Amino acid sequence: MSTRGNLFIVSAPSGAGKSSLISALLKDKPADKQVSVSHTTRKPRPGEENGVHYHFVSVDEFKALIAQDAFFEWAEVFGNFYGTSRLTVQATLERGIDVFLDIDWQGAQQVKKLMPEAMGIFILPPSREELERRLIGRGQDSDEVIASRMAQAVSEMSHYTEYEYVIVNDNFDEALADLQAIIRAGRLTCAGQARTHGDMLKGLLAD
Ligand code: GDP
Ligand code: ADP
Ligand code: 5GP
Repeated sequence: MSTRGNLFIVSAPSGAGKSSLISALLKDKPADKQVSVSHTTRKPRPGEENGVHYHFVSVDEFKALIAQDAFFEWAEVFGNFYGTSRLTVQATLERGIDVFLDIDWQGAQQVKKLMPEAMGIFILPPSREELERRLIGRGQDSDEVIASRMAQAVSEMSHYTEYEYVIVNDNFDEALADLQAIIRAGRLTCAGQARTHGDMLKGLLAD
């Protein structure tokens, strides 16, 4: 059986709600979906666990991983390095599990080049004021970090046109339902179904 999972890229300005949406999606530990745990040189926030939220590494360790070609994509975001493990993503997709990448627009561009069938989803906040309220309300970043993330939000949001789907995260439950609809539709594309049901289609179409 040549079952293969689908790759979904989820990007948003910091604070728009992508981590919350992805966690809600995976809350019941569905067997057919996984989020890719990135490597980062950022310091852990209170409550973040190594290997769960990120693999926290030093700059030297990150550079060694780049040299080993261990990353599917990597980028510098807000002065820290972030990268996606090539082997983990490939192995998970080969097991037929859908993989979600919570990555910035620079990483999304690299992934789309390597895997054009990856589906991009951009999450927007309903307003700039609400974005700032959420960053402050999350209560995990210093005032300086929040100011720098707000300053970069507009240029990040301008990349929304590079994605196939856009979700406005105003009402959380509606945004989650939108995300679930995109995933369901994304699995039903002709190319996706041909990958998932290769053997069945061979049987159906044989002479
Ligand atoms: P958040 O914006 O509050 O989720 O803050 P994070 O510190 O978790 O993420 C910072 C930025 O790095 C976001 O734009 C993420 O999408 C991006 N990011 C996280 N992991 C990766 C990764 O593996 N690769 C790339 N390219 N970007 C990543
Ligand atoms: P991101 O991962 O995009 O940086 P988070 O998922 O950490 O964003 O969300 C930022 C903050 O906003 C969190 O405190 C989260 O609980 C809150 N939040 C997310 N979505 C909504 C929403 N629709 N309405 C109100 N608050 C939200
Ligand atoms: P935070 O530091 O708030 O956890 O994440 C900040 C930003 O980094 C988010 O926009 C997040 O999507 C992005 N990010 C996290 N992991 C990766 C990654 O592996 N690659 C890329 N390109 N961006 C990432």
